[in-house]
Amino acid sequence: MGSSRKRLLRLLVPATTVATAAVAGAVLNPALPANATSHHHDGGRARSVIFINGDGMSAAHREAARLHLAGLDGQLAMDTLPVSGQLSTSPHDPKTAITDSAAAATAWATGTKTYNGAISVDVKGKPLPILGKQAKAAGKSTGLVTTAQVTDASPAAWFSQTADRGAQDEIARQYLEVSKPDVILGGGEDWWLPAGTPGAFPDKPAEDPDEASKGTKGNLIKKAEREGYQYVSSAKELARAKRGKLLGLFSNEEMFQQRPEGQGDIYSPVVDLATMTKKALDTLSTNKKGFFLFVEEEGIDEFAHENNGSRVLQAMASLEKAVKVAKAYVAAHPDTLLVITGDHDCGGLTVEDPSDTEDESGTGLSTEDGPFKIHGSNLTFTMDWTTTGHTGVDVPVTAEGPLSKLFTGKHPNTYVHTVLSKVLTSRH
Ligand SMILES: [Zn+2]
Repeated sequence: MGSSRKRLLRLLVPATTVATAAVAGAVLNPALPANATSHHHDGGRARSVIFINGDGMSAAHREAARLHLAGLDGQLAMDTLPVSGQLSTSPHDPKTAITDSAAAATAWATGTKTYNGAISVDVKGKPLPILGKQAKAAGKSTGLVTTAQVTDASPAAWFSQTADRGAQDEIARQYLEVSKPDVILGGGEDWWLPAGTPGAFPDKPAEDPDEASKGTKGNLIKKAEREGYQYVSSAKELARAKRGKLLGLFSNEEMFQQRPEGQGDIYSPVVDLATMTKKALDTLSTNKKGFFLFVEEEGIDEFAHENNGSRVLQAMASLEKAVKVAKAYVAAHPDTLLVITGDHDCGGLTVEDPSDTEDESGTGLSTEDGPFKIHGSNLTFTMDWTTTGHTGVDVPVTAEGPLSKLFTGKHPNTYVHTVLSKVLTSRH
């Protein structure tokens, strides 16, 4: 533990609180060694970080999911974490005050605000130090798990630097040659293979004829295997994969088809986010120096762009399952900081009473969705949209484990970097 870290703890936690927490920890968790009890909740040393992004998820998405999945008096697993706060998300972009996923993830991974589309480069295009690489340098293992393309903006900013989020084959190349995450699981096979090499997922499939291999960096899957990655492309292969460096690509692009309701919209990933998360933790947790794992449910954002309420709720349910996996891990490994947030709002969503029949936001794509059942009740709610784009409203952040208390209050999204760097840039 660095001395600045000790100073911080002294400021945050009165000695009596530490003692009480240690006693309570010992009673609750007799299996822990005596010196580990103070790790419980927010007291002890953090070794690892699980950071979960509900892409496009703001307070309204969480509330709609709470009503639908847990009921009026229920709570989502993501809302049971003991610490909560809120994050503002505005970027430093010459053209807009509303962020995209690239600028938001850059804020998390580098602590620097930048322009939309930037992957961990500053407003002048200069590459910034990234936590995914710094964690490796500190001896930790790293991984990313997403239902988006593994090279999509949100995971990319932790593990690559490029002026354009669209350069996803370059991002894949940097994963293999520069940042070397130990576990890479999600979609986006099209970027890992050159045109004409379809791979495990056929080019131009019926559900989306635009999908086809389009990488310009050679056969990066073969390259990954040469670098020691096990490569898997199905649920069966993932289940059988041994611990060690792992690349799993489970779709051409996103692991779902984002469309408006009834227009070919599909949310049915071949492997669910919770299963990928569990597999990643199995491998990463073997490193005694700790790990960083980024987990993302992309369907929330993509279906909110389509103003598709039912599919947003499905994606929220998927995220909930993954959160439960992470929570169970943290309960057994109290030296892990768990953080759950969104990168920005998408859809300008609000939760309304279905008896209000006037649809103030119009009757096109943004028509109210629902009514949706409230779990365990006869009541229902509708989901109303104000835009197919992102908005600037704050996102909630909930956290558990060492340092989690730092997330109390309202902060800019760069504050994620402030807290996470305390864990990921220090050698223990
Ligand atoms: Zn979006």
